[in-house]
Amino acid sequence: MLEVQQLQVSYGKVQALHQIDLKLERGSIATVIGPNGAGKSTLLNAVMGILPSRGAIRYRGRSIERTSLEQRVMDGIGLVPETRELFSTMSVEDNLLLGSFRRVRLGEAQPRDQLATVFEMFPRLKERRAQMAGTLSGGERQMLAIGRALMAKPDLLMLDEPSLGLAPRIVKEILQIVSELRKTGLSVLLIEQNARAALQVADYGYVLELGQMSMNGPSAQLSGDPQVVQAYLGFG
Ligand code: ATP
Repeated sequence: MLEVQQLQVSYGKVQALHQIDLKLERGSIATVIGPNGAGKSTLLNAVMGILPSRGAIRYRGRSIERTSLEQRVMDGIGLVPETRELFSTMSVEDNLLLGSFRRVRLGEAQPRDQLATVFEMFPRLKERRAQMAGTLSGGERQMLAIGRALMAKPDLLMLDEPSLGLAPRIVKEILQIVSELRKTGLSVLLIEQNARAALQVADYGYVLELGQMSMNGPSAQLSGDPQVVQAYLGFG
């Protein structure tokens, strides 16, 4: 679904990503874990086309390095940024409908059909459909951000630290939903600092440190790796 080879990103003279290789199989979840400032958001922004990069990015077998951000969205790549970027004075439902412009442009499904699907996935959003987004709890806001991205019916969904600032119970709930999304054929690239939760839900994991991939492997294997356990999973 997605293949990144020798990807490099620089902010001016400072290189943030060095020779990154990553592969995401269709219908699977891959996670990139790593400490603050490792370059995780930079990686997503480069794949999305928000940041310029060098190296190869292949999506569904085609090179997309020269494809615009807008075209990548139209091609079915969705990003839920760490900042969530909701419209706080608009209702939950209107925030969701704003996410459907891709389908409308493609002349495909009616936004209302997809709205029903998203409400089925997130009953909490349905209950609160008329509430202003700015008054939602942190967990609900994250659900809304994911729901809005799903309104575009992406084939590849990239999530930037969905667990950030959320209570463990809510993190579990959100990652459970992410895991279910895989059953619909969606491919997910999940960026997380919460390594334990991320490796539980992902099929494959990558460890990014100081702009370089230091390790990768099936999640179960990484979870049992002494170095990963010591650096990212701690005790308990
Ligand atoms: P976090 O988990 O804290 O968000 P991250 O792994 O997502 O961290 P990035 O945000 O990708 O890390 O940042 C990688 C490095 O690039 C950091 O050293 C950061 O300071 C730097 N960086 C990020 N954005 C910019 C920018 N616009 N200009 C200059 N340097 C930047």
